[in-house]
Amino acid sequence: MNVQEARFRSPSAAATSEQFIPDRSSFPQRTASVATAAAAEAEEVDRDARFPKAAIDAARQQRLLGVQIPLEFGGDGASISDITDMCYTLGRACASTAMIFAMHQTKVACLVRHGTGSKWHETLMRRVATEQLLLASSTTEGQNGGNIRFSTAAVEHAGREISLVRNATVISYGAQADGIVTIARRANDAAGSDQVLLAITRDDYTLEPSLEWETLGMRGTCSAGFELKFKGSAEQIFPEAYDKIHAQTMTPVAHLCWSSAWAGIAAAAVERAQLFIRKAARGAGGQMPPGAAHYTAAKMTLTKLRAMITSNLDIYAAHEHDERALSSLDFQSSINLLKVEASELAVATVMSAMRACGLSGYRNDGDFSVGRHLRDVLSAPIMINNDRILANIATASLMSGVPASLRD
Ligand SMILES: Cc1cc2nc3c(=O)[nH]c(=O)nc-3n(C[C@H](O)[C@H](O)[C@H](O)COP(=O)(O)OP(=O)(O)OC[C@H]3O[C@@H](n4cnc5c(N)ncnc54)[C@H](O)[C@@H]3O)c2cc1C
Repeated sequence: MNVQEARFRSPSAAATSEQFIPDRSSFPQRTASVATAAAAEAEEVDRDARFPKAAIDAARQQRLLGVQIPLEFGGDGASISDITDMCYTLGRACASTAMIFAMHQTKVACLVRHGTGSKWHETLMRRVATEQLLLASSTTEGQNGGNIRFSTAAVEHAGREISLVRNATVISYGAQADGIVTIARRANDAAGSDQVLLAITRDDYTLEPSLEWETLGMRGTCSAGFELKFKGSAEQIFPEAYDKIHAQTMTPVAHLCWSSAWAGIAAAAVERAQLFIRKAARGAGGQMPPGAAHYTAAKMTLTKLRAMITSNLDIYAAHEHDERALSSLDFQSSINLLKVEASELAVATVMSAMRACGLSGYRNDGDFSVGRHLRDVLSAPIMINNDRILANIATASLMSGVPASLRD
């Protein structure tokens, strides 16, 4: 089924969002078509550290950039489970494409969940759906690393006009994006933790390059540094304070989408290890090669990784509109630990796959090379550093007791 047919089969545009049941049947096919484009250019994207243009063009063609936007604003109303499945599929094809898609969808989730009811943000939602705009993220600032809950740059107010100048150390695909969702200090006299979220579009900001992106992996995300200068309207500030958006949407959706992309990278490495072990066993008359145990270990950690993502996904999906549940210590600890554990498990899985393949996995050429997967997945523990997350959770962990039973 092509996109047009899929959209035709969806309930009429006159249907209310309550009545709308998205036609999920078209999602796998549309995602597979993007994954094919992504896989075809993955090696070149990595080698040249270039933006995966063909893959993102395919995502636009398949209208996947606006797939999460509710039907009433022109999208498909895809759920968090649909989106994470897409991240996983793309991760198997090209890590950078998957991460770009994951970051874009996290920004779209903020727009959908916290922009509905605000005229400016609703207009942007329609634009994302109809024009297939690509949204980037700006949270990292100056020397502040992954401390997202503290901003230095403040929004300057002049009546209804606002402006912002931000030393944005890392903005993935900043040069290619059509818009950016950024955090900032509420005003000049506000504390660093008193933050707002803004959605800004190409015509109201400029980016002056400040830092290149020459990295070990995730090279196609083109996560360069920029001086961001914005001038626009106060309407562009999300109505809710950032601390709420951070807890309810930004962190959960980012961690679920990132983890799914990393699981996809891990799955691709496991697939190569499986092909290697099969070939080696065939060549030895059915005798398993010595690396087979590492292949089993890779499958085991991939299973754990997928189980951890899906269990957090189910909890989030069950409570996604329940502010109290999402703000609870238990949920916040769990969703933060998901990022830590998923990133470590993804690295462990790719490492096991590499050891299963031996030299064939270590080589940069050949069908069993997992070098690119390893370099890409090594970004996972440092993308908001696991040490920082573990240290931040320590106080909250002290406050909750040790479970009395297995299902407590
Ligand atoms: C592929 C990729 C894409 C990215 N894309 C974007 C993007 O689009 N937009 C954006 O804004 N940012 C982006 N980032 C940046 C990311 O959000 C983090 O800001 C960044 O990874 C933090 O890196 P850091 O190690 O310099 O900083 P830090 O988090 O400050 O860590 C530096 C060091 O300090 C240690 N450390 C820090 N805090 C603690 C603590 N409390 N306890 C113990 N040790 C601690 C860490 O272990 C680490 O060794 C991206 C990062 C990656 C890897």
